[in-house]
Amino acid sequence: MAKRKIALFGGTFDPIHLGHTIVAANAVEHIGAEKIVFIPAKRSPLKGFLPKADDDARLEMIALAIAGEKSFQVSDCELKKPAPSYTLETVRQFQADYGSETTIYWLVGADSIDDLVHWYGIVELIDACILTTMYRAGCDPPDFAGFEALWGRQRVEKLQRNVIQTPLIDISSTEIRNRLAAGRDVTDMLTPAVADYIRKHGLYQSKANSG
Ligand code: ATP
Repeated sequence: MAKRKIALFGGTFDPIHLGHTIVAANAVEHIGAEKIVFIPAKRSPLKGFLPKADDDARLEMIALAIAGEKSFQVSDCELKKPAPSYTLETVRQFQADYGSETTIYWLVGADSIDDLVHWYGIVELIDACILTTMYRAGCDPPDFAGFEALWGRQRVEKLQRNVIQTPLIDISSTEIRNRLAAGRDVTDMLTPAVADYIRKHGLYQSKANSG
């Protein structure tokens, strides 16, 4: 019997935007995964700053953005843990929960490639799941050739095999926060329900909170 496939999509999601949901939908289809789980991080150990919106708000915005998408789910598993969250631990938790008959995919955008060397247990992570890299607007096409000396040929080949040519959606949370802080419109970058939530709760309004 074919293994089940579950895709996990971690990030700060501060806020979740159409770039996230459009590439996620494309990746799920490409992989043939039965679902994708959005996993907001308490804080990125690498970003060096705290999310601007609190955990509940980021979780709520994800729930609003994915409402009605049957194969999309959200998990608060990393928010419930003490900061910071490590992807390797999350992947191992999902693998233990779903069992060995399920293949776990972890999605990252191409902008994350250069950070990967700093990720906790990156070699174990490459072995533990299918680390899947998506194209991102403004970034070079994902290429792992330069990492062979660090991770070995087989791991690099595994990473290269699992690059997905997702559509280029030129949106980032940083751009959204900056525009909101400047009083500019962001509705074309967000699911309408998320735009309403941000407006209603006055999120990302002040310059001090952008960045
Ligand atoms: P920020 O601008 O605050 O750094 P972001 O827009 O990059 O945020 P994150 O929540 O940090 O969003 O991203 C979570 C994951 O989604 C990362 O792996 C990132 O590479 C990926 N991602 C975010 N936006 C896009 C996009 N437009 N296209 C492809 N991947 C994306």
